[in-house]
Amino acid sequence: MQKRLVYTSLLAIVVTLAACNAGANTPEKTSETKPAKKEKTIANIHVPAFSADSAFQYVVRQCEFGPRVPNTDAHEQCASYLSQQLASFGAEVSQQKFTASAYDGTQLKATNIIGTFFPEKSKRIIFFSHWDSRHTCDQDAPQYHKTAVPAANDGASGVAVLLEIARILKGNQPNVGIDIVFLDVEDYGNANGDANSWCLGSQHWSKNPHYKTKPQFGILLDMVGGDSPSFGIDVISQQFAQNIASKVWNMAHSLGYKQFKDETSGQLIDDHVFVNLSAGIPTIDIIDYSSTRGFPSTWHTHLDTPENISKETLGMVGNVLTNVIFNE
Ligand SMILES: [Zn+2]
Repeated sequence: MQKRLVYTSLLAIVVTLAACNAGANTPEKTSETKPAKKEKTIANIHVPAFSADSAFQYVVRQCEFGPRVPNTDAHEQCASYLSQQLASFGAEVSQQKFTASAYDGTQLKATNIIGTFFPEKSKRIIFFSHWDSRHTCDQDAPQYHKTAVPAANDGASGVAVLLEIARILKGNQPNVGIDIVFLDVEDYGNANGDANSWCLGSQHWSKNPHYKTKPQFGILLDMVGGDSPSFGIDVISQQFAQNIASKVWNMAHSLGYKQFKDETSGQLIDDHVFVNLSAGIPTIDIIDYSSTRGFPSTWHTHLDTPENISKETLGMVGNVLTNVIFNE
């Protein structure tokens, strides 16, 4: 994903569209302006346990297919696996297939994978993570530039946390309905070019959303398995969904997780940009990035493997999200 800095031109567009979207977003934002519930209240609500071990196994399983680069067997096999997993946990599953034109002209067979839990519930939260792997280790030594990224952190980690949440939902019904969207072709962008060459799956979904009932807010996960994470709040999340960021970060703090930092992390292009701009759902990004360190050292390298994934970090993020869901 492009987690490069937002280009000036895109930022200008974002600022302009933010103003345009303000009216459309008002009902959702208004309904979410309540302060996060306090710890005492949290203790009185049954929040199912999130298993970091289980989440880690979902990382391993995805990586066993090989890099999930569009137009490969690994990609096709993993799409089937993810769909089957969501269905086994009780979701209504659909595959949104489309052809994405990459920046280099390659036509990519792409699939967004969608799981809907408790479709009858009118208050809904939507979760996103990209499931594809980048086709080039372009942040690595030159000999790796023609190698695809294993994408344990940058791809599999967010999906793994959401699969574990899906598993929890099989036996535990929250007050809210849950939509899970595994987005494709986030990471086939041009590192030296157009910001819009990234996030092709979210661009497609945001123009063709699947839902009947619009979710009140969204949470995107990206690179949530690093061993020393720094989860700041990026500029787009602040601009479009500050109240959601406050809700989630307050929950993290109440659980003792100092890795969720009350600081602006940077101006990032990620799938939430397009969900906010085109779909008009206030959506935050939980992503391991800081303005001083940048992305984790394994980012877009051949070292982005399960061996470098921290179960503790998966568990931290999963625990925060599980608490958010069951406190709604
Ligand atoms: Zn990436």
